[in-house]
Amino acid sequence: MGTFRIIKGDITKCRADAIVNAANPSLLGGGGVDGAIHRAAGPELLEECRTLNGCRPGEAKITKGYRLPADYVIHTPGPVYRGGNCGEEQILASCYRNSLKLAACYERNTVAFPSISTGIYGYPVSLAAKTAVREILTFLHTQSTVREVVMVCFDEETKKAYEEAYQEIGQTE
Ligand code: ADP
Repeated sequence: MGTFRIIKGDITKCRADAIVNAANPSLLGGGGVDGAIHRAAGPELLEECRTLNGCRPGEAKITKGYRLPADYVIHTPGPVYRGGNCGEEQILASCYRNSLKLAACYERNTVAFPSISTGIYGYPVSLAAKTAVREILTFLHTQSTVREVVMVCFDEETKKAYEEAYQEIGQTE
């Protein structure tokens, strides 16, 4: 079983083997964490993203990290929250699962996630945190390539939501 940590910080500064980008389906950049990652990585990231032909919500694609301290970026578009009855939870779970599978495929040991979908896409953070923590812990239990997963929360409220979810779910694991 690898380790799971929750920190407050800026994912563009993370020295993980791979950081995850809460992308949009075009993979051509956007606001929030996506914009921050593209700005920090430099224009070569967008050049590589242009070759990928987009990505469906819940799926994941990988690029190099260019000027980022992280070696790779795993791009995954989260679901837009439309009240919770439009398959949002399954799509969000797939984002975490598919990103981690890709990281394992590329033999990455440490992976950092932002809080996917809880910004512009409007997913309530307390709900998103439960799904995220459950998927991450399940994954850490079932393989040994990815040894550390870090949730990088941009603000205190987000960090608190993930800590609460971890307390709730971590105890039953
Ligand atoms: P989405 O479109 O998936 O909702 P956003 O980028 O709007 O994605 O927001 C996702 C989360 O990422 C939010 O909690 C937001 O505060 C956070 N965020 C924004 N910039 C950064 C950053 N540099 N590092 C980590 N998290 C960030």
